[in-house]
Amino acid sequence: MTTDSWRENVPAALYAEADAFLGFLRLIPVMKPECCPWCAAKNFILRDPRLYECRNCKKRFTPWTGTPFANCRHQDSWAAYAVLRLAGLLPGQAGETAGLSHGAQAYREEVLEKLITRRWPLLSDCWRGFVGNQKPVPLRTTPFSSKEEAEAHHNHEYVQCLECGKLFSSVGTHARLAHNMTALEYREKWQIMKKIPISGFAKRRQHSEFIRQKIASGEVEPMALAQAMHEANVLNGRKKPFGTKYIAEMHTRRLQSQRSDKDSQ
Ligand SMILES: [Zn+2]
Ligand SMILES: [Zn+2]
Repeated sequence: MTTDSWRENVPAALYAEADAFLGFLRLIPVMKPECCPWCAAKNFILRDPRLYECRNCKKRFTPWTGTPFANCRHQDSWAAYAVLRLAGLLPGQAGETAGLSHGAQAYREEVLEKLITRRWPLLSDCWRGFVGNQKPVPLRTTPFSSKEEAEAHHNHEYVQCLECGKLFSSVGTHARLAHNMTALEYREKWQIMKKIPISGFAKRRQHSEFIRQKIASGEVEPMALAQAMHEANVLNGRKKPFGTKYIAEMHTRRLQSQRSDKDSQ
């Protein structure tokens, strides 16, 4: 988990919003008061590290007095928690990963959700796990029984996680962080063939644009890339995560179509 992990989950179109939001949270630990929160006077003195005293009303305050960030011991955990949430973790998991107590986590969730709704509303779908305009659809409870069915589920701007029903630009990262499953385990459980991407169109466009830029700048050589992909496929080919029944069906269908191709020739 890095401070940039959220970029894999948040659509690129929202990077600027997310950067502004996280930038604001990162400044919380170094906030400075502009005036006395009690009487608004501008003349105050520093009594202690981070403890100010107003010359006018004599009351004391910290930079966070009167803000939702007061009374929190770990001011740097605001940004840390938000990064985990935007990276696709559910609130409880983000709190645990950031080392927050349940109360501290619930408080951060409440404050940050309000802050996002008020100042960075474009991020709010992302924050709640419903990215884009898609509405969550009822969760299926059984693995896919055909390639077509699995494709139909994944060919959208954003993809629904079959474990929790929320939408993500890519389910792979989310499954690992939120459900402690590798992409392969996720594919195996829901019977999703390797050749079907478990990321939505938005993420796939972003990825192909990334590769195109690498090729254009000469960082990646197209032939070497194709060769590497081919080698990886050969290497992984034997580990197809499918039940024998499913493989047998696919195989039969392929043979049938080959046969009918031959007949028509
Ligand atoms: Zn004052
Ligand atoms: Zn999920």
